[in-house]
Amino acid sequence: MSRIDLEQIARTRGVDLTVWPPRYDPAYRPRPDEEHWLPELECADPPAREKVVFAKLSRQVRYAWERSPFYRRKWQQAGVSPDTLKSLDDLTRFPVVQKADLRAAQAAHPPFGDYLCIEPAEVARIHGTSGTTGRPTVFGIGREDWERVGEAHARILWGAGIRPHDRILICSFFSLYLGSWGALAGGERLGATVFPFGAGVAGQTLMAVQWARDLRPSAFYGTPSYALHFAETARKDGIDPRGLGFRVLFFSGEPGAGIPATRRQIEETFGGACVDMGSMAEMTPWMTNGECRHRTGMHLWQDIVYTQVCDPATWEPVPAGAEGTPVYTHLERTSQPMIRLVSGDRARWTDEPCPCGRTYPRLPQGLYGRLDDMFIVRGENIYPSAIEDTLRAIEGFGGEFRVIVSRREAMDELLVQAEYARSHGDRREALQKTMRERLRARLGVHPRVELMPEGTLPRTEFKARRVLDDRDLYRSFGEGR
Ligand SMILES: [Zn+2]
Repeated sequence: MSRIDLEQIARTRGVDLTVWPPRYDPAYRPRPDEEHWLPELECADPPAREKVVFAKLSRQVRYAWERSPFYRRKWQQAGVSPDTLKSLDDLTRFPVVQKADLRAAQAAHPPFGDYLCIEPAEVARIHGTSGTTGRPTVFGIGREDWERVGEAHARILWGAGIRPHDRILICSFFSLYLGSWGALAGGERLGATVFPFGAGVAGQTLMAVQWARDLRPSAFYGTPSYALHFAETARKDGIDPRGLGFRVLFFSGEPGAGIPATRRQIEETFGGACVDMGSMAEMTPWMTNGECRHRTGMHLWQDIVYTQVCDPATWEPVPAGAEGTPVYTHLERTSQPMIRLVSGDRARWTDEPCPCGRTYPRLPQGLYGRLDDMFIVRGENIYPSAIEDTLRAIEGFGGEFRVIVSRREAMDELLVQAEYARSHGDRREALQKTMRERLRARLGVHPRVELMPEGTLPRTEFKARRVLDDRDLYRSFGEGR
């Protein structure tokens, strides 16, 4: 096993890993023809890199123990302390953190929770969850943490093929949502031209299309559903999205970019590479699940955030090739460090090599579902992403769909409402049959398929919600009797 030469990294890449948190030279950048930002770590022998990861982890854990009543309490209850951590494997002896724990800590110790490890006055940025479900979570990020977020994101965007000559159009909300700001910080640190356009105001998508036509950005950031909405808007305005010249389109916020048919559709629509990214807002730098330009599934950038794909019953890592839920641990966060935060996403991981030469594990199918968004119809596990993948691969599909699960005479019923393309208006019967058969083959249950004209279903400017489960209503009536 080769050792990683930290002195050489400090000398040539301006990264001092002998201190914690590491120090980065803000002027460092690889030559544009270099494939990697930090090849000594990205392409290292995994056991050699794990030594660096372990050194960072030990410091991170001790820091949280000393500064955060939240972690001290949690770990004392579990009978662990920083001394428990003698190897990387010992991390699994530490209890996991659930989002509900964070919400409870913030309710008891508002506004940041007792896992804020810096003085409130040292918080440089306040962000929050989009608040679509439950109580919003408040993120307090220190200034130095934010600089490291820029570092990490620049490095990962570099891996996705973004270079300083690129111009990045950011088409997502500039609000409390961390996605937009994280993309901005990374693009700026990398030295690209950033174009923080935003999203969500009436008429803004058409404006974005027109600005893109005139300003010729070469990269796009947003959610996959928004990119498709953007393309539709362009076509309606007589603009071919392929002609806009996007070379790289990178995404977070939704699993779409990792769903094969959606990825294919985005790449065919825009003629650029569709790159999947994103872990969780709590885990910012959230790009540490991030694909390289070869797009073989998101790499886990283990020396920035250490990720284990775990069995949700035991919280032990599952073997390579198996499915579990990612559990994330910060390695260089001083404001609100997360140590073993459960994502609740579903993923399969692999250690098979990638043509880029990075030796990080990968999620070859991305995050393809949530532990809680899977629904069961007549005993079959059904993922909305599987329905999306099936429909988008069918010629004549009109771009949007909705799933309604209900119960009729005590039997579950799966209704898929799908749009048909204008071009297929006179072939609806055949299209409906194709959809029914392919969904049946993929899902293992017979769905009802209802066709509707293209443009009928609501388009989303943010994260798509496409499943309605009417059985809950049925259940509450049933139980109330
Ligand atoms: Zn790769």
